[in-house]
Amino acid sequence: MPTNPVAANVEREIQSLSAGILAKRPQLEGIVKPFAALFIEKARLAEDLNNQLGPLPLDSIGTRLSEGVPVLCGISFSFLKQALDYAFTALAPAVKSRFPAIVSAIDRIETEQRLGALDLSLLAEEYLGGGLSGIREAAPVTELYRQSLGFVVQLTLSAVLQSLAPSLAARAAEIGWDHGHCPICGSMPLISFLSQPPNTPSEYLVGGGGQRYLHCAMCGHDWHVRRQFCAACEKDSSDQHMYFKAADAAGERVDICPHCAHYLPCVDLRETDAPAHLDTMAVGLAHLDVLAQEKGFHPMVRTPWNTFA
Ligand SMILES: [Zn+2]
Ligand SMILES: [Zn+2]
Repeated sequence: MPTNPVAANVEREIQSLSAGILAKRPQLEGIVKPFAALFIEKARLAEDLNNQLGPLPLDSIGTRLSEGVPVLCGISFSFLKQALDYAFTALAPAVKSRFPAIVSAIDRIETEQRLGALDLSLLAEEYLGGGLSGIREAAPVTELYRQSLGFVVQLTLSAVLQSLAPSLAARAAEIGWDHGHCPICGSMPLISFLSQPPNTPSEYLVGGGGQRYLHCAMCGHDWHVRRQFCAACEKDSSDQHMYFKAADAAGERVDICPHCAHYLPCVDLRETDAPAHLDTMAVGLAHLDVLAQEKGFHPMVRTPWNTFA
């Protein structure tokens, strides 16, 4: 498949980053390798997906944002249907080869989607509106099928929204967005980061960089927040900043909130030369998810690598 230069660049970044993670933490191989492979497939799809998108059915993006409503919340996703179907067809083979335990469930989802018995755009709306609770009321399904369907909906919607979000990012950045959820899709962050110094002549002036951003778990949008802000309860923990880190890893930690007991992984990009592919970085911090959950804290989003049932 001919690859566009942007995707080729992202692919190199993901490969180099995941090799660096596995050199430090080989025990994460079973999750880093399959997810890195999926992230590469998503990056390859991004340009094609843009061509599958219908026009955004909104003319009031600025008004929604200034009223605190995420751009894509509460609207019909029928304009995403073609792109979601395309993403699923393109990603299903990679899912089956990397996650053999769910092959039979993916086969069933493929059949239902091909027969028109399963509408990914309706499921995506429901998923973004708070999970897939409606699925339990439909035809009886196994727990494995239900979880696999959630995985597929998250994967395809995030592939589509990651290709759409950059076109909305500038509008979102114009508005002072003071929330813990994403201004574009309303999802919670997967990870936060402290920015690198700007690459400008002023960088030799005291420090620079270190601004805190949240990275959306679904659409990949990054938005600026106060340093001590908790995305889950939207309070500041200004008196004491609490976090856990592993002894051997500079610039990697999980921030914890003393008010609501949620945690969020954080990378300080001033302390790493690794490429900043944040989704891969989040998978590479799964050992800190284990640590935070052992101490009784809760993740802001549930992912296949932070869910230890
Ligand atoms: Zn988002
Ligand atoms: Zn909190």
